[in-house]
Amino acid sequence: MINLTIDNKKIEAEAGQTILEVARENGVVIPTLCSHESIEPSGSCRLCVVEIKHGKRTRVVTSCLYPVAEGLIVDTKSERVMNVRRLVLQLLLARCPESEQLKEMASEMGVLAEPRFTPDKDNVKCILCRMCVRTCEKVVGVSAIGFSYRGTDKKVCTPFEEESVTCIGCGACAYICPTGHIEMETTQSGDSRTIWGRTFKMATCTVCGRYFAPEDQLKYISKTADVPMENLAVCVSCR
Ligand code: SF4
Repeated sequence: MINLTIDNKKIEAEAGQTILEVARENGVVIPTLCSHESIEPSGSCRLCVVEIKHGKRTRVVTSCLYPVAEGLIVDTKSERVMNVRRLVLQLLLARCPESEQLKEMASEMGVLAEPRFTPDKDNVKCILCRMCVRTCEKVVGVSAIGFSYRGTDKKVCTPFEEESVTCIGCGACAYICPTGHIEMETTQSGDSRTIWGRTFKMATCTVCGRYFAPEDQLKYISKTADVPMENLAVCVSCR
């Protein structure tokens, strides 16, 4: 076991755990936008910074990537940490001034509603955290989306921004996106879903009759997991 201190509280942790993991296990809240249990941490959003002291050195690190160490002293809310978080948030807000999630965080952290930096011309909501791209690639295994262009024009899209041929319409990218940037529309009846420029027909549950998943997603699961389609005909609630 490893002994460390987080916000003056003595804590035991397993070797290999990150500061963020240990903090969460011990009820210490550290804000994040790009952290999710289903994908590896990437340190993209930089909001989870904490101040650490190891020996005589103190420095600010991203807690989602930094591993715990014996004798480590962690401060999750020092003035230095809060200043870095506010600056990061102001930069994110300048890129995505329309994001409700960012505005909420800004108000919680006392960041001025008036942007300190010039807002992005397109008013997009994407903070370029890569959560959607990594989920599509690593969790779903489809790689239907990626980053295109460079600098301020960089954005998430399908190859050549055309209707995706590989997307299965699962919506995992939209569900995991922390800022609500990815648009997914479902018809009122629920019989179809549109995402990344393609409309997917939804399958109905053979028990309750409700639409529950895109047919393409079920076909993909059937093929990759070698499960007969008839075994995938019932929704999660009716199983
Ligand atoms: S669309 Fe959402 S999940 Fe994808 S990079 Fe942008 S903010 Fe992150």
